[in-house]
Amino acid sequence: MFHVNENFLKIPGSYLFAEIAQRVQRFRNSHPETELIRLGIGDVTQPLVPAVIDALHRGVEEMAHRETFKGYGPDYGYDFLIQAILKGDYESRGICLDRDELFISDGSKCDVGSIQELFSPDARIAVTDPVYPVYVDSNAMAGRAGDFTGDHWNRIVYLPCSAENGFVPEMPQEPVDVLYLCYPNNPTGTVLTREQLQHIVEWARKEHVLIIYDAAYRAYITTEGIPGSIYEIPGAEEVAIECCSFSKTAGFTGTRCAYMVIPHAVKGMDEKGRLVELNGLWKRRTSTKFNGVSYPVQCGAAAVFSPEGQVQIRKVIAGYMKNAAIIREGLTRRGYEVWGGKDAPYIWLKIPGHQTSWDFFDVLLEKAGVVGTPGSGFGPCGEGYFRLTAFNTEEATRAAMERFSRI
Ligand code: PLP
Repeated sequence: MFHVNENFLKIPGSYLFAEIAQRVQRFRNSHPETELIRLGIGDVTQPLVPAVIDALHRGVEEMAHRETFKGYGPDYGYDFLIQAILKGDYESRGICLDRDELFISDGSKCDVGSIQELFSPDARIAVTDPVYPVYVDSNAMAGRAGDFTGDHWNRIVYLPCSAENGFVPEMPQEPVDVLYLCYPNNPTGTVLTREQLQHIVEWARKEHVLIIYDAAYRAYITTEGIPGSIYEIPGAEEVAIECCSFSKTAGFTGTRCAYMVIPHAVKGMDEKGRLVELNGLWKRRTSTKFNGVSYPVQCGAAAVFSPEGQVQIRKVIAGYMKNAAIIREGLTRRGYEVWGGKDAPYIWLKIPGHQTSWDFFDVLLEKAGVVGTPGSGFGPCGEGYFRLTAFNTEEATRAAMERFSRI
């Protein structure tokens, strides 16, 4: 009999959203009359914008004719999309990248989950806490997380982010090899100022730490001066890999397209002490395991950077951010302490009293018929907090705030 990867068996329970789905299903079975309002999972609800739809149609039409049909595309993405991103998302921020430093993929989840294949098996991983679970679980599957003891992994270094430190992580005293950062943050909705990010980049350069910077929510930043890309910080191109996605920027959660930047200057060391470019390793890995994103989807993604595409996606994002403001104001009025919702579609609230996050989840579900996400699902420091998202309709968001009076 073959042996399974034991690391998978160490990963506790079901994935956060599976547990939520089970509890919601149980509630629906016992309360079929209640109309639920979902402010839980971070999925968009508005349709793709017309510029994207037109480009998708054009891409599909090209696939219908022998002269324009496309078979396998380039493993790292079509040039037209790479150029559109370099110009629309990087040059526009004053960041100059080589075209082969950018890789198109079918999602940031795959990118942030797979990038650990480049790390040595014993690399020490640091994450902010609370954290998007994929960073931790993908390293746990590879055996780098150690053992799960109660609410945390004993080989992962957790950097607490709470009201006490204003959700700004302090860099660890112990040695680490890799630090995952996500800003604007999921789940807390908080951001780092340029100075705070610069401090982290300087620390990473000094300590030779690789930063994986997840900027999936950069399109939601509204505060002047908040960095949308880590490469806005000088020197970051030597220590940071950056991921970004069309999912939350342009509603591609079901369409699938993302990109990752691996500058040539980012290097690791091999056993003999030689420096190795991570860019080359990722190219090797990608050409072995990936055959590119479908042509019509890349056409649709490129249209996001057209002038009309930009106007249209900005309007959708503004709609979500209006919901975020409704949630912030609604909760603040009811006396909750809240963070986020200004530069991110997530609102992070402090649960009053001594209830756990799952207790609060159950109370909110049962008394108000509102579904949110328990903070403890994102790491030990998430206990005592709760995440709401701005992705529902304005009407449902307002109704959810009204229902908070029932709890
Ligand atoms: N990174 C973060 C921080 C996310 O919250 C999400 C999705 O919720 C992703 C990545 C996944 O993005 P994608 O849909 O591109 O896989």
